[in-house]
Amino acid sequence: MKTLIINCGSSSLKYKLINMVDEKDIVSGLVERIGLDGAKLVQKNEIGEKHIIEKEIKNHKDAVELVLNTLTDIKVGVIKSMDEIIAVGHRVVHGGEKYSSSIIIDEEVIEYLNECSKLAPLHNPANITGIKACQSLMPNTKMVAVFDTAFHGTLPEKAYIYAIDYNLYKNHKIRKYGFHGTSHKYVAHKVSEAMGKDIKDLKIISCHLGNGASISAIKGGECIDTTMGFTPLAGVPMGTRSGNIDPSIIPFLVENCGYSIEEVSEALNKKSGVLGISGVSSDFRDIENAALKGDKRAQLALDIFHYRIRAEIGSFIVNMGGVDVILFTAGVGENSPETREECLKGLEFLGLKLDKEKNKVRGKLSEISKEDSIVKAYVVPTNEELMIAKETLALVK
Ligand code: AMP
Repeated sequence: MKTLIINCGSSSLKYKLINMVDEKDIVSGLVERIGLDGAKLVQKNEIGEKHIIEKEIKNHKDAVELVLNTLTDIKVGVIKSMDEIIAVGHRVVHGGEKYSSSIIIDEEVIEYLNECSKLAPLHNPANITGIKACQSLMPNTKMVAVFDTAFHGTLPEKAYIYAIDYNLYKNHKIRKYGFHGTSHKYVAHKVSEAMGKDIKDLKIISCHLGNGASISAIKGGECIDTTMGFTPLAGVPMGTRSGNIDPSIIPFLVENCGYSIEEVSEALNKKSGVLGISGVSSDFRDIENAALKGDKRAQLALDIFHYRIRAEIGSFIVNMGGVDVILFTAGVGENSPETREECLKGLEFLGLKLDKEKNKVRGKLSEISKEDSIVKAYVVPTNEELMIAKETLALVK
């Protein structure tokens, strides 16, 4: 029972073949620079051995073909034929308002995803290209779309409607959607299992802190609010993204600083966040190192990152009427004890007691609060691909 997971970007394709019996990865790989010079495929097996193919890869169909050939290759392959793949799960960024759960892909789905492309112009067109490439090469295999936005389909109106002209929502679907949904869903279920509780009985705050960062409030298993918005630019500051800013800064940049709209978008998406504040890097390891060496702007970037996360956590606690567990996931959340400690500061009055020794953990599912802590804290490694694989299997079964 093997499921192939595909995550297509504009010039890249990430993939994983997962054995659904033991839920373990068989291989994972990345095809880079599709349509560009220097294209290559790098596949890693379960013991980390790499197989690299460097060749011209003209388009996504070529990329999928190369992936399938590599998976079935006599020497480095891991399956005898494509028939062993029972389904393909595609990560799709935007499912719009219509899809609040995963769905088997047919023509109607593709048509709607095309409509959603204007909401995620960098991601959905690439996702659709990947789906079509797979369909043409595996016409008899079922394909499932798993959306980054879907888990946030339970947001109440008061959380997703912006305080702007309501017609902009009605006519143009401008609203909060939220992202990282597959990750938030996976870690929320994992933490409930680890606590031995039914997710329906828990109030969870999930902090997905990686290069992109978002925080979600999950009450009784349903997401009731999240920090990302109409796009993944909103919310807390990130590696290179600004997070929430006063919207008037945008016309100010255009009218007074000579920015075009494209340059504003580039500045807010790629030159802001902790990179913009520190001037050092978007990588949290570099920033933490620079701060340790006394770089004041690097320290300021970290201070702002932690401050804004605490502010969101506080607001979610109030809006959920309490919290049972706060969890950390993704690159920074799983690996940075300093970030976790700073983000949890100020919650002692609610009975949260961080265990500094346990908090040294990196990349492993573990409780980091003390035994007598009323509010619990956890590190929960995310696994979006496994979540996609599970949803895919559930639908095709
Ligand atoms: P992700 O987007 O989930 O892959 O996370 C990437 C981010 O995780 C990068 O900014 C990394 O610097 C950060 N990261 C990875 N390992 C560590 C670590 N040991 N300490 C701090 N940040 C880390």
